[in-house]
Amino acid sequence: MTAHIIDGKSIAKQIRDNLKSKIGINNSAISPTLAVILVGDNEASQIYVRNKKKAADEIGINCQILELSSSIGENALLEVIEQLNTDENIHGIIVQLPLPKHIDALKILSKINPLKDVDGFSPYNAGLLSYNDQKAFISATPKGILELLKSTGTELTGKHAVIIGRSNIVGKPVSMLLLNNDCTVTITHSKTKEIASILRTADIVIAACGQAKLVKSDWIKEGAIIIDVGINREDGKLCGDVDFENVKEKAAYITPVPGGVGPMTIAMLLSNTYEAFCLQKNQKQCCCKDKKCHSH
Ligand code: NAD
Repeated sequence: MTAHIIDGKSIAKQIRDNLKSKIGINNSAISPTLAVILVGDNEASQIYVRNKKKAADEIGINCQILELSSSIGENALLEVIEQLNTDENIHGIIVQLPLPKHIDALKILSKINPLKDVDGFSPYNAGLLSYNDQKAFISATPKGILELLKSTGTELTGKHAVIIGRSNIVGKPVSMLLLNNDCTVTITHSKTKEIASILRTADIVIAACGQAKLVKSDWIKEGAIIIDVGINREDGKLCGDVDFENVKEKAAYITPVPGGVGPMTIAMLLSNTYEAFCLQKNQKQCCCKDKKCHSH
């Protein structure tokens, strides 16, 4: 068997095109606006932020980057967020991670107004996700992964999904999201024993550990769906957490790196920003905090 390659690049483009036409039709006096806080001069973060801005600009989302010195204090950063929280023309706020070591990321993320928390990293939205509450802003990478899984047309109910990684930004939220979609979920991590034998029982593998080509073909079940979140550099080339060339001969579906999860993450961030914009516009006329309320 040679796997069907899940084309994240083209699925993400469809999502962005769809958003672009909705934003165009909206023709509102104010554009959906995303504020991105970038602290310090981490090179990878600068590239990620630039890519987000480029994608936002292309579809009519205004993206404002606030570049702050790595020496900024926690209180000063909290004040910046408070200003953005109360600014009616800002609809989404994200803080590019990682933050410098002297800043408590949880404290900072907790400060973001949940209605503007389009990365879904605040404890409030993470909590709503664990309650399977529709009002949750689901973080972009897990949300993108779910779209990629749905694109295969596979029924998720009852499938055994094995996640590699337990980070707050990928492993944990994607586990919760798949649980909410009726998968049977196993979370593995750096201290897990016999990881290969656990993976051999997986119908779905989500590899998010940041270890180049860790997942080998003899770790996976014939016909499994493989979603590779990892972004690693090996011999100057980008690669994922999955040994793609060999695993694709055994899997039913697989995402490439690059061109799989990465483009979906940005598309989903833009989708959340547009959702936040609509929600805040509705709320000006409506006391109902329900995101799904379109009665006005
Ligand atoms: P992280 O470093 O915060 O977490 C890595 C997790 O993997 C940890 O929970 C750790 O326990 C686990 N792990 C590490 N080595 C392991 C091993 N040998 N076996 C099993 N588990 C192991 O990383 P993260 O932020 O969750 O990101 C994971 C990867 O995904 C990175 O390569 C990152 O660059 C990538 N990423 C990609 C996107 C995207 O949009 N494509 C988004 C976020 C992260």
